[in-house]
Amino acid sequence: MKPAILALFSLRLLAAEPDWSAVQRRATEFLQQYLRVKSINPPGDVREAADLFRRELEKVGLAPKLLPKGSPERVNLLVRLKGRDSSKKPLLLLNHFDVVPVDEKAWRIDPFGGLIQNGFIWGRGAMDMKGTGVMHLFSLILLKELGITPARDIVMLCTPDEETAGVYGIRSMIRDQWPEIESEYVLDEGGFGSRDVFSPGKLVFGVSVGEKQVLWLRLRAKGTAGHGSQPIADNANLILLAALGKALAVKDQAKQNEIVTLMRQNLGGPLAQNKFTAAIERNTISLTTLTSGVGSPAKVNVIPSLSEATLDCRLLPGVNADEFESEMRARINDPRVTVERISHSADAGVSPHATPLFDALKAAILKYHPKAVVTPILIPYGTDSVWLRQKGVKAYGLTPMVLDAATVATMHSDEERIPLAEFHTGLRIFYEIVRSEF
Ligand SMILES: [Zn+2]
Repeated sequence: MKPAILALFSLRLLAAEPDWSAVQRRATEFLQQYLRVKSINPPGDVREAADLFRRELEKVGLAPKLLPKGSPERVNLLVRLKGRDSSKKPLLLLNHFDVVPVDEKAWRIDPFGGLIQNGFIWGRGAMDMKGTGVMHLFSLILLKELGITPARDIVMLCTPDEETAGVYGIRSMIRDQWPEIESEYVLDEGGFGSRDVFSPGKLVFGVSVGEKQVLWLRLRAKGTAGHGSQPIADNANLILLAALGKALAVKDQAKQNEIVTLMRQNLGGPLAQNKFTAAIERNTISLTTLTSGVGSPAKVNVIPSLSEATLDCRLLPGVNADEFESEMRARINDPRVTVERISHSADAGVSPHATPLFDALKAAILKYHPKAVVTPILIPYGTDSVWLRQKGVKAYGLTPMVLDAATVATMHSDEERIPLAEFHTGLRIFYEIVRSEF
């Protein structure tokens, strides 16, 4: 080979593989900075987070757009990297700037310190979902810096309010900006890798292809008010307690579900036994609030005429929410109790997994975890993907990190954290995904 060609050839090789130790250092520092931004929702002021992302993208010559919705502090960020084949609809990388509030007193480590301790990076949002957001961001930055044109356009959307139902984020963007975000695929949060959550002792990467429907109900019991010194059967609290007992007695058997069946097949056996797997095998109800009493603070000697509870019900894809609700009414069967629907997310169904992008996800994971089982999964919680699935976008949820059940459980808790080494591998997996052919 002539020296000039050799030089060109090695330049190409150099261009294809980033300097990973430098990238990891840069991305870690960026994540630390990002975790220090208090993008707590509510109130949901994400301007500082959006600015941080904007500056980093502009440094490499990308041109992000900031799109506030409803009010100036609820900013969406949208950026596009042009791909080779414009006949294909884009891949959308979707993440959210906002994080849930913290109980500062309960945290042993500053939730907004961006601190690294014992191999973990700690802070509110580390898991949900600033860590993955930074993987999205750096996958785009690396393509741009290395001069790699992806197979198709890649669009990144960062939203301000996933944690409060996405009214000013994904829902406004779908309504107002659809031509700019219309895509064939979306990669969002949802699935992850684990050695214990899905199957004991087996490394499994679950890529979520569907999520449960969210149905929120309020039960209201009416009775007769009176003096606590003289008990009555028509006590609203007693009526509510009896109704709750019947409402919660939903049949506990696992229901047949195509994705969970597929998971068992791919894992070659039963699922691990835990609250995550239990929740994806059946419809569930959590009793989340109880409200009653007269006066503030409520009087101990007054029997109230009203007592209320809310139920967070999660239904498997394909379950009819109206039927679920009327079955509950029939179980309660008490004219003094009303069941009111607070909200219901539509049943968006399940995305197909026999796709080139799913294959690319699998190949990228296997490159770094050759022994892993990669399988479609169902997730028990809701994500912004539900809105895109309804628009026909194939939505996959993946945080490409190996997390044990204890670490997964720190999401929204006062010990939220991710393993630093997994964050680093996740950066590589994401880069591998965005530069694949699909
Ligand atoms: Zn999230």
